[in-house]
Amino acid sequence: MDCSKVGNLIFKLRKERHMTQKQLAHQLNISDKTISKWECGLGCPDVSLLPQLSQALQVNIEKILLGDLNQNRVDGGNMKRIKFYVCPDCGNVITATAETEVSCCGRKLTALTPKPSDEEHNLQFESIENDHYITFTHPMNKEHYLQFVACVTYDKVLLVRLYPEQGAEVRIPKLSGGKFYFACSQHGLWVQK
Ligand SMILES: [Zn+2]
Ligand SMILES: [Zn+2]
Repeated sequence: MDCSKVGNLIFKLRKERHMTQKQLAHQLNISDKTISKWECGLGCPDVSLLPQLSQALQVNIEKILLGDLNQNRVDGGNMKRIKFYVCPDCGNVITATAETEVSCCGRKLTALTPKPSDEEHNLQFESIENDHYITFTHPMNKEHYLQFVACVTYDKVLLVRLYPEQGAEVRIPKLSGGKFYFACSQHGLWVQK
């Protein structure tokens, strides 16, 4: 741990949250002298304090250890850079358009890497009015099913969640220039060729 980096970060985050050293010290049940010592880089927080410190400053513990929030550049909003995360435990689907850390059910999630559609993981398209009527031959049972189908354009994401035992079909409004992604509970993320 680089104490001066960590100290700088604690100072910056404390100021952002308009907290005095005393207030932060109070939350951690320690003396304000200790906070002042950290902020001057004269010592690092004890590991046992990190969970409370991370809660008080609303950052994750690793970031405190590294002393650097490593912020993203301002997101230009291009949805085409979208990343999908699916929690293997609860099936939660999370999307992000810039680097981020995602966790669910106490697990860190890594962004799924899309593979080009194959025989088994493939969508068929028909047109109904202004919608894509999408069907697939992929199984839809509890052990093996498609979890969502998403249409991604430059500025929009339309994501439809799917559930086991439902019909192998989905209807999504047509968007121009849309790219289709879909996720399988066993075989990860796919992008329609
Ligand atoms: Zn979860
Ligand atoms: Zn599959």
